[in-house]
Order: sequence, then structure tokens, then C-alpha cells
Amino acid sequence: MTDRATTREAELAEIRLQLEQERERLRHELMDLGPTASNGGRHDPSFHEHPTEHAGEMAEQERSMAIRKNLREMADQVDEALGRLQRGEYGRCRACSTEIAIERLRALPHATRCVPCKEAHRG
Ligand SMILES: [Zn+2]
Repeated sequence: MTDRATTREAELAEIRLQLEQERERLRHELMDLGPTASNGGRHDPSFHEHPTEHAGEMAEQERSMAIRKNLREMADQVDEALGRLQRGEYGRCRACSTEIAIERLRALPHATRCVPCKEAHRG
């Protein structure tokens, strides 16, 4: 009987859609943040005459850089998960090779380890 495999395949197809939507969402969020400071090349030297403003600007830049970095990391994880789906490696624990429960993959589509292994590697 292949019922179980067929069900899993259908579940994985759903998760793939979920991942693709997530990737689109992350891509848009990154675009909404605009060009990076280095790409923008907008450097106003007059900022140096206003130390307080300058500090505020720096904090703002740091904040958006942190958000950008976070979004990039998430996008990378999603890309990586989609790559594994394509290679047929998706949904297996990286550590012990057992199938990761579909409920876990639904909650965390880019999970690479099953719950017991995740718990074991905590910290
Ligand atoms: Zn495992």
C-alpha cells in the first residue's frame, strides 16, 4: 500500500506552496526596506555637525540592517528548504534520518531536525 506515502506527498506539496508564499513575502519585505545604505550611497556630511541627529540616524540604520539581516536569514532557510524539496531530501531529520512529523513541518517548514534531535541539540 502506498496510501501513507501518497498522503505525505500531498502534505509536502502543501508545505511547498507555503514555503513559496513565504519566500515571496520575504522578498517583498526586503524590497520594501529599500536599497542598502551602501548601495544607496546617500551620505550627507552635514550630519557630522549634528551629533545627536547623527546618532539617531545610525540607530535607525542599524535597526533596518538588523531587520534586513533577519529577513535574509529567513529567506535563506526557505530557499534551502525548497532546495531539499527539489532533491527529495525534505522532511527527513538531518541528524537521525527519520521522517519529521508533518505537524512539525507545518509549524516550522524549514525544520531540519526532528523534535527529539532538536531537544538533544538545544543550547
Ligand atoms: Zn532526528
